[in-house]
Amino acid sequence: MPEAPTPQPAFDLSAEQQATLDAVADYARRELFPLAARMDAEEWWPAAAFAALGGAGYLGVTVPERYGGGGLDLFTSGLVLQGLARWNHALGLAWVAHDNLCVNNIYRNASEELRRRYLPGLCSGELVGALGLTEPGAGSDALGSMRTSARREGDSYLLNGTKIFITNGPVADVLLVYAKTAPERGPRGISAFIVQKDFPGFRVAQKLTKMGFRGSQTAELVFSDCRVPAANLVGEENGGVAVVMSGLDLERAMIAPLCLGIAERALELALEYAQARQQFGRPIADFQMIQAKLAEMYVAVETMRTFTYRVLAAANDLEIGGGGRGRIHALTAASVMYASESMNRVLSEAVQIHGGSGYIWESEVNRLYRAIKLLEIGAGTTEVRKLIISGELLGRGP
Ligand SMILES: Cc1cc2nc3c(=O)[nH]c(=O)nc-3n(C[C@H](O)[C@H](O)[C@H](O)COP(=O)(O)OP(=O)(O)OC[C@H]3O[C@@H](n4cnc5c(N)ncnc54)[C@H](O)[C@@H]3O)c2cc1C
Repeated sequence: MPEAPTPQPAFDLSAEQQATLDAVADYARRELFPLAARMDAEEWWPAAAFAALGGAGYLGVTVPERYGGGGLDLFTSGLVLQGLARWNHALGLAWVAHDNLCVNNIYRNASEELRRRYLPGLCSGELVGALGLTEPGAGSDALGSMRTSARREGDSYLLNGTKIFITNGPVADVLLVYAKTAPERGPRGISAFIVQKDFPGFRVAQKLTKMGFRGSQTAELVFSDCRVPAANLVGEENGGVAVVMSGLDLERAMIAPLCLGIAERALELALEYAQARQQFGRPIADFQMIQAKLAEMYVAVETMRTFTYRVLAAANDLEIGGGGRGRIHALTAASVMYASESMNRVLSEAVQIHGGSGYIWESEVNRLYRAIKLLEIGAGTTEVRKLIISGELLGRGP
């Protein structure tokens, strides 16, 4: 009688997960890759393509079907992002701001009434979502230095302040915004609100021009006595810190597959170019120094993949309000730190293999190379990620 197979730890995707990744990557190659050059050249926002993502079932991935979502887990949403990032990294960034930072956060933390009001439109792509945490004076110290305030007045809150570098800001219909309801309580006096772009007192102050991820729209937002219904408070008043910290851990777990998708594409481009480009009468892939680069890039991509999936799996069942401390806090910071730094090395070698043509603005590898620095800055800088990891190792975490 054959022996029962020994259960193996899941170090790779199941057949179903692989099929999801293949399907989204195929969709992105067909529908989104053709838009990428124009998005980069003109900072063009393809509104119809974003809405079409909803039609294809790629928005609201983690939201239950009763609100119009996909009813899938965080791990699967990471695979969706990986597939999008391979072929249109700028839409990948817009997607993660929408689907993870805004939509998943609203689903996890908002009241049933708010879920029913906002999630269906966000899942269909009729509405674009964003998250506003960072301010001109509050970046790495987002909670401590936050100046945006929310003052209760009757059935509303009046929001005052400025948010900066907000992904999807210029095109967002619905924004999850953090503000201080009790400034004297520091980070324990922060609350989260859903703001609609048509609420009086809200405006996009300026669209910001970027060196990379150019098709992803970024803005400075201003709130001047912006009147938000009290019912749009997400979670408890002064309970925003749990929403932020839990959301940031999930965001960090989700940025790693964005890095992975970009690095996979860069390796593919380098492999193609190394075999096509001839010098000294033979393909440059015949030279051992080029072969060494390809081998190192491969090792980086494969280790990124393993760690990314492992941490996504660990974050998959994070309870509502969980995270922001402990093992998952360190692991998610480590995952995004490792993925972004590895991606940086992969892209540097990919451009090197392309020689002068990799330095030309219009080339695909150059478009990727200009983009990647962001992923060592956004969702907490590399330095902040190191502070989180060492803080947990030394028992000095929050
Ligand atoms: C394109 C783009 C999109 C973004 N999208 C969003 C978004 O959708 N929503 C949102 O809320 N925010 C968003 N951000 C903001 C992003 O999260 C912040 O830029 C980031 O957290 C860093 O803040 P900062 O830029 O103010 O840098 P700072 O905090 O001013 O940091 C400057 C430098 O000082 C270092 N530093 C700071 N404190 C320490 C310390 N204690 N120890 C050691 N070094 C330190 C930093 O690591 C960095 O190197 C986006 C940013 C960009 C550029």
